Amino acid sequence: MDIQRNPTRPVRIGSVTIGAGNPIAVQSMTATPTQNIDATVAQIGALTDAGADLVRIAVDSKKDADCLVEIRRQTTANLAVDLQENYRLAEDVAPVVDKIRYNPGHLYHHMRDTPWQEKVRFIAAVAAENDCAIRIGVNCGSVDPAKASGYDRDDSMAPMLESALEHCAFLDDLQFTRYCVSLKDSNPQKVVDLNKRFSSRRSDVPLHLGVTEAGMPPEGITKTRIALEPLIGAGIGDTVRVSLTVANDRKVEEIRAGKTILADIAAGRVRTVVDFGSDSLNIISCPSCSRVENEAFVELAEQVRQVTRYAGQHPLTIAVMGCRVNGPGETDDADLGLWCGPKQVHLKRGSDLVGIFSYDEILLKLKEELDRIISAVAG
Ligand code: SF4
Repeated sequence: MDIQRNPTRPVRIGSVTIGAGNPIAVQSMTATPTQNIDATVAQIGALTDAGADLVRIAVDSKKDADCLVEIRRQTTANLAVDLQENYRLAEDVAPVVDKIRYNPGHLYHHMRDTPWQEKVRFIAAVAAENDCAIRIGVNCGSVDPAKASGYDRDDSMAPMLESALEHCAFLDDLQFTRYCVSLKDSNPQKVVDLNKRFSSRRSDVPLHLGVTEAGMPPEGITKTRIALEPLIGAGIGDTVRVSLTVANDRKVEEIRAGKTILADIAAGRVRTVVDFGSDSLNIISCPSCSRVENEAFVELAEQVRQVTRYAGQHPLTIAVMGCRVNGPGETDDADLGLWCGPKQVHLKRGSDLVGIFSYDEILLKLKEELDRIISAVAG
């Protein structure tokens, strides 16, 4: 298939350049605790051996940042850092990474009196000084609250788009143009719509594509395929990540799946796009990362799939998230949401907390709540 790619500008990230017609880069993220240096270096090695062009690592504390210095010493992989609220950590990690990812929706929680513009100016200055690219990573579960409040609650895409466009314009004004953008949702159709809308406004900006909380294979791969086929087929997308909820020793499956999907699209082996999950039970789960506080999370996600099979014909969404950082926000839109702490799991119905349960109790409580929803709909 001869695909005419969008004329995006080149953005160099270490030894790989995305955009400007370069091959679409495939990337992943480590899920080992960043402070476990040996495990993280081993996972980076496994991912790069599988063909990862870029590996992202979460850094939430000064201690994580210190460990990243040592991780860098032990690998030549192209590294991206994932920052959450503590944007000032950029200063500690930029010298040892190739890209900084920030989320516009997370710039509000930390140092609330400091305007986001000042924070982005700081990140851009640090990136420029240290030869780093930037990703503006907009995510459906953590939209900039100032933007979200300006739109109807049912219109989740407009605030995401506006947030991304605003941050692009701000970086352009700073004359920092070495950036890419991602707009991720757990619904593959929304990923398609969001990225098409963004690219119609900023076809020059390279896009990182992916479905957030795509879940376990094989459904997680199918959802990603559903999003990637129409986008890449339309020339949109410069780097991809397939987010899968899998144990650490299977993380390389993200890279293999990404490469397979890209090869299939290039060869025209595309499937008819189905409206995934619209009339059946949809289980979304995050791919896990170093922020997971109990490794039982991955197994729990699998168990949720098994114990809810009986409800397969009900058009409901159950979200299973691995940590307290993104779990609370990213379960709000699901019919039932679980987010995992070190010893307990929070069970939510929409944005309301149902209760906090041990890992032993949670499946029973989930089933009770699911039955309540099903009988309310039937009754
Ligand atoms: S929800 Fe938490 S554990 Fe899961 S990928 Fe996001 S940050 Fe990592």
